[in-house]
Amino acid sequence: MPGLMMRINLIYAALERTVFDRMSGLARETGAINLGQGYPDTPPPEPLIEAAARALRDRSNQYPPGAGLPQLREAICGYYARRQELSLDPDQVTVTSGATEAIAAAVLALVSPGDEVILFQPAYDAYAPMVRRAGGVPVSVPLAPPEFAYPLEMLERAITSRTRVLMLNDPLNPAGTVASEAELAGLARLCVAHDLVAICDEVWEDVRFDRIAHRSLMAFPGMSARSVKIGSAGKIFGLTGWKIGWMAGAGAIGTALARAHQFLTFASAPPLQWAVAEGLAMPDAMLDAQRAGWASARSRLQAGLESAGFAVLPNAATWFLCVDLAQSGIAMDDATFAERAVREAGVATIPVSALYETSPRPTSIVRLCFTKPDAVLDEAVARLAAFRAGST
Ligand code: GLN
Repeated sequence: MPGLMMRINLIYAALERTVFDRMSGLARETGAINLGQGYPDTPPPEPLIEAAARALRDRSNQYPPGAGLPQLREAICGYYARRQELSLDPDQVTVTSGATEAIAAAVLALVSPGDEVILFQPAYDAYAPMVRRAGGVPVSVPLAPPEFAYPLEMLERAITSRTRVLMLNDPLNPAGTVASEAELAGLARLCVAHDLVAICDEVWEDVRFDRIAHRSLMAFPGMSARSVKIGSAGKIFGLTGWKIGWMAGAGAIGTALARAHQFLTFASAPPLQWAVAEGLAMPDAMLDAQRAGWASARSRLQAGLESAGFAVLPNAATWFLCVDLAQSGIAMDDATFAERAVREAGVATIPVSALYETSPRPTSIVRLCFTKPDAVLDEAVARLAAFRAGST
């Protein structure tokens, strides 16, 4: 059927399964411990499960409004006002089927053929293909480990008269680093000076361990009218399979986001929307308790890895720790290590080079997800330690 093959869009013809899906698949096939794809393997917050069960029984299971339940859009605004002192109007907010849909909708709404889009590397692997499918041209600005600092001068050199959009993931997956106030101010200055729109993927905004309140790029001078802020209940509550996310933008940008969403998925499961609305309004103590659990898992994995001789990179956020293989005395690139570790050690990880599209890319860093029960983390460390001993 070569004729039919020719009909497949070249972008998709060249794409492989995502590294996350592939590593989870390998973990399932081999029975390995899965520290690859990011999801908690710990009990979900009971009040949200109850709220969802109640909503399934007592609330509507039919189409909600396309932009999302008004109660959820209000709860999202209340949450940002409370936790980030950010003032948003529910009319600016569109609920999506996860942040990945919000990213797609934002790119479709804001990128036209020929537009250049700044993508920092490493980046979530959905960004570049989505930009290309919208006809845009990704322009890479690499961030270097271990700090993954934003190189503002290099960024300014990468901006041309065709640059329209900058995509920022802060806190940054896979690094687990957070942009400083000065970096955010610098990014805002460049967006304003060059008339760029910022698509801010802030799904990790509430998974921070540095005791610093998250600050959105949207909150910086000149940015409220030129930013899209993307968030995710999956990350805030550790319920990744619910796929409830959202995006907010002012004025015509907010309207365009809603229009893009209406013909992607139109709407997301209303019982889950009800439950997330309840969850966002719950006392901060619930979120604090959940984060305390993640923080202790993070310390446990870090301590275990370090005492087994692994060099763990500095990290302030996300569910991930990164290990530098070269500094750990392991002479293997990250892709080889990840392939071998899942099969030979029985531990799935994510090779960070898979999240860089262009060179220079670091090839000695792997990412490990720590939101797992203690016994699972301990067993993973023991397996990785034995693997390291056998390979050095
Ligand atoms: N954000 C998740 C991670 O970094 C992956 C999401 C997905 O697999 N679609 O692990």
